[in-house]
Amino acid sequence: MRVETLVVPPLDNNAYLVIDEASEQAAVVDPALGAKDLLAKAESLGVQIVAILNTHGHADHTADDGPLKSATGAKLGIFEVDAYRLARNAKESRWFLPAPPPPVTADLLLKEGTSVPIGGVTLVTIHTPGHTEGSCCFYDAADGVLFSGDTLFAGSCGRTDTLGASPAKMKASLQHLAELPPETRVLPGHGPATTIGKETWIADLAYPVV
Ligand SMILES: [Zn+2]
Repeated sequence: MRVETLVVPPLDNNAYLVIDEASEQAAVVDPALGAKDLLAKAESLGVQIVAILNTHGHADHTADDGPLKSATGAKLGIFEVDAYRLARNAKESRWFLPAPPPPVTADLLLKEGTSVPIGGVTLVTIHTPGHTEGSCCFYDAADGVLFSGDTLFAGSCGRTDTLGASPAKMKASLQHLAELPPETRVLPGHGPATTIGKETWIADLAYPVV
C-alpha cells in the first residue's frame, strides 16, 4: 500500500489517496475540497479511484464527495449513523465553504468491522464515536496504518462540544485505539502524522476529554 497525503482546503484538511499498487486501484479518505488535486494525482500515478471514505460527516471533510463521485463513479462510504449529515450539509451554509456541498448519497453504510477492499488492500472500519456519533477510523492491519479522521491528532483529539459529540465516548474511543500496536502509523484528518506509541496519553485518560 502507498499513501499520498494532500493538504487541501477548506481547513488545511488532510485528504489521503490510498493506493494498492498491484491492482492500481485507490481509495480517497476524506476528499475535503481536494477533488481536483486528488483527480490530478490519481491520473499522474495511473490509478483508478474506486472508493471514497468519510471518517465522519463534517462538511469540511465531505465537501467534494459529490464531485469526486461524479468524476470517478467510486462508491461513497460513511459510517451509518453519520450518513444523515450528507443531506444536512447540502442544506447548510458554512463559514469555511464557498457554497453548501452538492447533495450526495452514500453507497456503503459502514458498521463496526466493515471491510472495504481496495484491490489487495483491506481497510477495516473501527467505530470511534466522540467527535461525532458516527466518527470512525479506517485500519489497514497488514501495513499498520490507521486513518484517524478527527478522532485522534498528534498530541490531541477532535472537539467534543458540537452536535452529536460526546466527551465520554471520545474517551472510550481513544482508549480503544490505544490497544492497537504501538508502531501503527496514525494519519489524521488535520495536522501531522503520528503513531499510536507516541500518543501514550490516550491510554491513560482519567476524565472525559473536552
Ligand atoms: Zn470534524
